[in-house]
Amino acid sequence: MEHDLASMDIEELRLLMGELGEPAFRAKQTLEWLSRGVRPEGMTNLPASLRAKLAGLPFGGARIIECKRSHRDDTRKFLYELDDGNIVEGVLMSYSYGNTLCISSQVGCRMGCAFCASTLNGKVRDLTAGEMLSEVTAAEAFVPAPEGRKRTVTNIVMMGCGEPLDNYDNTLRFLRRATAADGLGISPRNISVSTCGIVPRIYSFTEDAPHITLCISLHAPTDELRRKTMPIANAYSLSELIPAAKHYADVTGRRVIFEYALIEGVNSDDEHAHELARLLRGVNCHVNLIPLNSVKERRLTGVTRKRAAAFAALLERLHISATVRRELGTDIDGACGQLRNKHIATQKEEGV
Ligand code: SAH
Repeated sequence: MEHDLASMDIEELRLLMGELGEPAFRAKQTLEWLSRGVRPEGMTNLPASLRAKLAGLPFGGARIIECKRSHRDDTRKFLYELDDGNIVEGVLMSYSYGNTLCISSQVGCRMGCAFCASTLNGKVRDLTAGEMLSEVTAAEAFVPAPEGRKRTVTNIVMMGCGEPLDNYDNTLRFLRRATAADGLGISPRNISVSTCGIVPRIYSFTEDAPHITLCISLHAPTDELRRKTMPIANAYSLSELIPAAKHYADVTGRRVIFEYALIEGVNSDDEHAHELARLLRGVNCHVNLIPLNSVKERRLTGVTRKRAAAFAALLERLHISATVRRELGTDIDGACGQLRNKHIATQKEEGV
């Protein structure tokens, strides 16, 4: 079987039922359960013999084994355990318009950004589409939908552990199932994919997923500076990255979002704002500024909110749309990779 159960669409399930000698209508029943993250054991309208057959197949599950809730806001951080025991994390943030779930696309990451906790121990493996879907359905099962709303998770950002465009096929499959009416049924406009800037994949993404919001981690206005914190900048220069971003914006008619983590003494001076404005002139874009979340393992610190606001104001004066992202869950290791690392370290201390 090429794909795990949780990532299958109706056609694939029909084929599977054929192979298992089951009537085709079982495909639809199975899919309805899968869209709610229910494992074969719980698919109560299927005969026990079929449930047993399905239970013997790889599922692609993600089970919440720990949830930390912020005292400052309503942010919840989940630790998910995958079926092979690997751990990834997700963050559920509440906003006035609904809830955004930040999901992981890989166990670890191989992109090596200097400020990021996810990449400290490299990449362990890619997540399957089924596992990414399970991150969403597990969060929905864990947190009941607010009154008057059909579902808990209204928006998804692929900004957890991993580089989604380094796990391209599974990411696309996930996006198709997440937006399908017989899948999670989430509007593509409410889903964002964030990349550190794998240029050829930005072009394919523009073709393959034009309705999904594209975010690009920029974090520096010049190649020289970017190479200091992001190894990907050695593979693709800004003279390649910015045209790729512009291509996405031109073809889709949608703004591209640039993420820019403000690091004290590195990329957060007025001169950097001027360079950034020059770099982005003529690109239909928005800059999301984030004071760097200091990561214990790294010797980089974030700027104050005041400095971030001044940087945003300067960009605005230079006609570049910019906002400072609300910091959520700072008391629960909100930044990606932090909780997983802590969990693994504690397991090591306990000799697990
Ligand atoms: N690999 C993808 C998505 C995962 S990270 C990417 O690089 O875009 C999501 C965002 O968080 C990225 O913009 C990443 O650069 C940023 N990030 C990582 N560590 C951070 C930290 N310590 N503080 C603030 N932002 C951070």
